[in-house]
Amino acid sequence: MSTITIDDLTKRFGETTAIDGVSLSIDDGEILGIVGPSGCGKTTTLRTIGGFETPTSGRILFDDDDVTRVPPERRNVGLVFQSYALFDNMTVRENVQFGPKMQGVPRQERRDRADRLLSMLGIGDLSDRDPSTLSGGQQQRVGLARALAVEPRILLLDEPMTGLDAQLKRRLRDEIGSLLTELDVTALYVTHDQVEAMEMCDRIAVMNDGHVEQLGSPREVYESPATQFVSEFISLDYPEFAFVEETG
Ligand code: ATP
Repeated sequence: MSTITIDDLTKRFGETTAIDGVSLSIDDGEILGIVGPSGCGKTTTLRTIGGFETPTSGRILFDDDDVTRVPPERRNVGLVFQSYALFDNMTVRENVQFGPKMQGVPRQERRDRADRLLSMLGIGDLSDRDPSTLSGGQQQRVGLARALAVEPRILLLDEPMTGLDAQLKRRLRDEIGSLLTELDVTALYVTHDQVEAMEMCDRIAVMNDGHVEQLGSPREVYESPATQFVSEFISLDYPEFAFVEETG
């Protein structure tokens, strides 16, 4: 995993400025959330880190490597989207092994990796199934295992829980949160759901209209909002949020 630095990043699409001078860093092993209303630039930020958009200006560093002009397939990022996009002509295990196979990882090692990840996600018994026979939550776990199997420098998650029911979302939130922490994954988590970000992320960037309004721990953002916008956006539907007191 790596430390990710975004330095003064701007992306314009014609007349639209999707992101406007965004700077932030994601520490090695950290889960950074990006929240904000529709159209504020969350997905564009994620896609630019993944290499699927070329910034109009600014730089992206993975550790000390400037990857701003490096194509996506050479950045080694793991991607999890709301649409699971699993390959239906392959079993679950084959789906998870696909990325490592493309990377030239030896057969036994990629099988071991796939089995380990699937069992960590509680779906080891589904390895030989066709993905189309799985539930939405199971497919999302396979998607996550597949993204992690390439041992990415950063895991990019874009609204991964969309389309799942509330109860399943809560369960996956806990499970995925602990798994990412256990594996010490550096991750960027894009969501419009404040609660999801609060519970899963080490720090949160609140975006509005292409720029970062505030970057801080969930507690800082919730208890000491830097702007009126942050205050309104964060407090919206999380009145019952209780922070666990830090000890030690
Ligand atoms: P949502 O929560 O709705 O997914 P978002 O915060 O992820 O929104 P982006 O998808 O990053 O927002 O979009 C930011 C702005 O850039 C929007 O105004 C959007 O219309 C515009 N935009 C994004 N991609 C393109 C594109 N390929 N061409 C033109 N405009 C784009």
